[in-house]
Amino acid sequence: MPDTPARPRPDAPENTPVRSTGTRQVRPQTEGWQQQKDATGRPLLQFASPKRGKPPVHLADLTAEARVEKMKELGLPGFRAKQIAKHYFQHWTSDPADMTDLPAAGREELVAGMLPNLLTEVRRLETDKGDTIKFLWRLHDGALVESVLMRYPGRITLCVSSQAGCGMNCPFCATGQAGLTRNMSTAEIIEQIVRANRAIANGELGRHEHADERVTNIVFMGMGEPLANYARVMQAVRIMVDKKDGLGMSARGITVSTVGLVPAIRKLAAEDIPVTFALSLHAPDDELRDELIPVNSRWKVDEALDAAREYFDRTGRRVSIEYALIRDMNDHPWRADLLAEKLNARGRGWVHVNPIPLNPTPGSVWDASERSVQREFVRRLNDAGVPTTIRDTRGKEIDGACGQLVATEEDKAEAAAAAGS
Ligand code: SF4
Repeated sequence: MPDTPARPRPDAPENTPVRSTGTRQVRPQTEGWQQQKDATGRPLLQFASPKRGKPPVHLADLTAEARVEKMKELGLPGFRAKQIAKHYFQHWTSDPADMTDLPAAGREELVAGMLPNLLTEVRRLETDKGDTIKFLWRLHDGALVESVLMRYPGRITLCVSSQAGCGMNCPFCATGQAGLTRNMSTAEIIEQIVRANRAIANGELGRHEHADERVTNIVFMGMGEPLANYARVMQAVRIMVDKKDGLGMSARGITVSTVGLVPAIRKLAAEDIPVTFALSLHAPDDELRDELIPVNSRWKVDEALDAAREYFDRTGRRVSIEYALIRDMNDHPWRADLLAEKLNARGRGWVHVNPIPLNPTPGSVWDASERSVQREFVRRLNDAGVPTTIRDTRGKEIDGACGQLVATEEDKAEAAAAAGS
């Protein structure tokens, strides 16, 4: 068993060996872009959505009661709302031609009013022999977001976006570079799932296994910090799990992740919806995490872990800790030990660690950890009694792995051209 290296002194100079074996401490830094800073020189955090034109109101933005009210306003019986909801949430269609149970007179206008187009497909990329699709969507105001659809044995997962851009300013993340464009509406979040289900039903996701296949798992790990758009994300989750008037999915298959917005984690724990909760920790010490995840300047590692433990206490759902393994930055054995210590200090059996290997990018400070270092990191946690498994990072080949979701300049040019046509 390798010996445990000494912890580096907090004032250890940058990128210098901290032990005789040559372990280095690489510090986070942006590459090719400048992080926006606030008046105190800290990375700027944006919590409020900038004011922009709102997307058109859609059926999925309304509660079941509000849908009925809307029908009455239009002089129609309330049950029409249920009929349209069934077409949209169960048959994944917005096409009036499919809705023959609605009266032909005025059907087009009614459906256009209740199910306005929210996402225009700009591009899709496929990999893993068609088992992974990355969609690039243009929203009504030209903002671009992405979702990634992945087929695994026995389940189909969709990684959804919850904001256009992101205000959390993580130095490794392409999404956060331009800051927060705006919060996505509930219906814009839901529409990503409906469009994915439609693609699956059309046989577009690799080999079709059976007729009623659909998205079974949702991960909020696309663009944006979901808990910074709390109300709309939670309304979307309610629609996902609504068996009567929504998508009828299992809450357990839905993962809400955060970089650590502590008050919102507490609020989430108090909701009566047992979703899976994931904390993107990436460092167990405040010294590194302050730089790696700027929101750590607001809520420290211990506060985030306390809130995560509370989530387990209130829901009984085991928490996931996400940890991207970055070469010589956060992959040191002592950090595995410190992480295990902090998790075990809050009890046993409440948490699972998912180290995420990055794409190798030689010459970058954001390079992947060596395989042997990854294995050692995992071994130390497992030996300390913390269940730890390396996560599958499907979609890496198409730049669709979580935290890397961003529209390229080429995508933007294509979207602009499509908007003008
Ligand atoms: S890693 Fe997540 S929270 Fe951080 S800037 Fe990117 S999208 Fe936002």
